[in-house]
Amino acid sequence: MKTIGLLGGMSWESTASYYRALNEGVKSALGGLHSARIVLYSVDFAEIEAMQARDDWEGAARLLSQAARGVQAAGADFLMIGTNTMHRVATDIEAAVDIPLLHIADATAERLMADDVERVGLLGTRYTMVQDFYKGRMTDQYGLDVLVPPEDEQDEIHRIIFEELCLGRIREASRLSLLSSIQALYERGARAVILGCTEIALLVRQGDTGVRLYDTTAIHAERAIEWALSDVKV
Ligand code: GLU
Repeated sequence: MKTIGLLGGMSWESTASYYRALNEGVKSALGGLHSARIVLYSVDFAEIEAMQARDDWEGAARLLSQAARGVQAAGADFLMIGTNTMHRVATDIEAAVDIPLLHIADATAERLMADDVERVGLLGTRYTMVQDFYKGRMTDQYGLDVLVPPEDEQDEIHRIIFEELCLGRIREASRLSLLSSIQALYERGARAVILGCTEIALLVRQGDTGVRLYDTTAIHAERAIEWALSDVKV
């Protein structure tokens, strides 16, 4: 089994989801007492959030590149960044290490392609919904048509992520608000919606809506398990 390198803590609420999903996945593939080999570097999210807010992506790239080098030195065979937003600096992080990066947008886009979804809605932080690093990759490399909510809804989704979900707060009013954004994307023609923030699945589940959801945390973890077990005979 390969060793998974995970840059986590962004926020730790979703890193806990990753940790569980990775271990559950290996357990169900190999059985018994098997669990995932993981090197986790968990950052202080307050530092990252402050850099995002002041547009210091270079600083964030330096901090995460150093963390990635630590993960590599500790024996990881490949790397995951456990947040959609910080894939903004994925190219810098990738360049800082020799091990491959399992990109969250690639894992998600490949799943959408396999399911023949061409037009998809995207929920995430404002950075993920507005900037080009995520949507652009999905459009340019996979030909997907990615729709995002209008600006007022983006503000509310961003607020819910940073003021509630990253702090472990689960509020029914926020669930209803996200479900209404999901429904609106569907009505605009999206055949499915990407939960493009690793905390959103803590609030909204597939059972809450008839619109097909793509939970990036679960998809990223499933792909990581495939990579980790690619040298194992099961
Ligand atoms: N975990 C979130 C994401 O997937 C947001 C936290 C962050 O800004 O990294 O984008």
